[in-house]
Amino acid sequence: MRGVKIQDCLICRQSSSGLICSYCQQDLLLFTPPGADKNLMFCPIISKGLKKVDFTQLLAVADYQWPISGLLTGLKFSAKLPHAKALAQLFVEHNLKSGMKLPQVIIPMPLHNNRYLWRKYNQSYEICRHLSLFTTIPCEHKILLRTQATKPQTNLSASQRTINLRKAFSIAPCSLAQLRQYQHIALFDDVITTGATTNAAYLYLKKIHPQLRIDIWSICITLKT
Ligand SMILES: [Zn+2]
Repeated sequence: MRGVKIQDCLICRQSSSGLICSYCQQDLLLFTPPGADKNLMFCPIISKGLKKVDFTQLLAVADYQWPISGLLTGLKFSAKLPHAKALAQLFVEHNLKSGMKLPQVIIPMPLHNNRYLWRKYNQSYEICRHLSLFTTIPCEHKILLRTQATKPQTNLSASQRTINLRKAFSIAPCSLAQLRQYQHIALFDDVITTGATTNAAYLYLKKIHPQLRIDIWSICITLKT
């Protein structure tokens, strides 16, 4: 097949013309949001699964299930960086349509420095880098910072979780003016489970810039069944 680059599918390792072969694409069970703007907050199965959140615009690719979950865990825990490109491509092909009002910048959910030093990369930033290449929307990973290593959330009550997250984010003073120049951004988090962390970052940014439109972009939502 001249002109078509053949590689191994990242999921099944069979020869494929794309990063994910057509057979694995069919197994992905992508979300089918009802509206033209692809907003998943209009899907009861998704909005009900999230804890009380304040954001109103949410784009994501699929439920957190195999095989897409395998791509995410490979990226996050095994440094399989090519997965970031495949996941970004899925997001763009599935969620972004021509004529859609796109954000001026994509901001990845930051990792705390301790986790960054241990992992050496931020998986959300790796996906955002490719989202930026596919869309030409700039990616700014130095605006929103994670200031505190939050305690593990698992054994905390809902109110303790809120307190734990409240001080988790900050913004570099030199980035304040830059943030206030934007009217519309996307905040990207690779996986959303309860939505609490994403919402804390959303509220933090809204507190600084109340008029800012913030769309939440994600790869997977963990659906409650
Ligand atoms: Zn495959």
